[in-house]
Amino acid sequence: MSGQDIILQAKGMTKQFAGFFAVKNVDLNVRRGSIHALIGPNGAGKTTCFNLLTKFLQPTAGSIIFDGADITTMQSSDIARMGMVRSFQISAVFPKLTVLENVRVALQRRRGDSFDFWRSQTVLNRFDEEARHRIDEVGLSGFAEVTADELSYGRKRALEIATTLALEPKMLLLDEPMAGMAQQDVERISALIKRISANRTTLMVEHNLSVVADLSDTITVLARGQVLAEGDYATVSSDERVIEAYIGV
Ligand code: ADP
Repeated sequence: MSGQDIILQAKGMTKQFAGFFAVKNVDLNVRRGSIHALIGPNGAGKTTCFNLLTKFLQPTAGSIIFDGADITTMQSSDIARMGMVRSFQISAVFPKLTVLENVRVALQRRRGDSFDFWRSQTVLNRFDEEARHRIDEVGLSGFAEVTADELSYGRKRALEIATTLALEPKMLLLDEPMAGMAQQDVERISALIKRISANRTTLMVEHNLSVVADLSDTITVLARGQVLAEGDYATVSSDERVIEAYIGV
């Protein structure tokens, strides 16, 4: 695989907390255009990996390359500007704003305008077309004028995804996108992730293994801070070490 094919690469990524290795010597290669899942039992180091990759935490050792640039010592705000955007944590959804207004705010954030500036009618109109396009993309066209707090849980999540897409990410990091969802919403959000990943790269941490099986091109299994196995679902799910780590025998 050439370097061009890899959009995100971690080498020897390590995070130590007071002598304890939450993540130890992790190598990760995320292929451009793929859906890549990070799985593992509780305490495996998945969240710490996400925090390291998005620079919410600085690694104790190792390097991280995103889209050809060494981001090891960069700040999370720089990473977002470079096109790696983490959803569900940094994308704010304002409960009293409508779906359309929420997406407009996100579009304006991308341009670095101030919040007051957003209030002017000219700006509202300017963002209207693009905002509606994002709303269509996540299947919320019928809800543009509904306030966020009136949306179902699954639709709120779709709105969060729309505000993330407004930042035009090359790479999306989804942190447990199915957490707390009813089955019907799981199916809807799965289809949405598949659709929006068609021309982007997606890395997700997800506990729902049937979703992981359905969506992922590549799966990295972590256990005790280290990579246990990597490959497609058939490969990792038949790996003895993975089965052992999950059922704890
Ligand atoms: P996962 O997301 O796979 O459940 P985490 O990355 O949250 O795992 O945690 C991995 C390990 O690192 C756990 O044992 C956790 O207790 C520990 N850990 C995580 N964050 C901290 C921290 N800030 N200080 C100390 N230990 C931490």
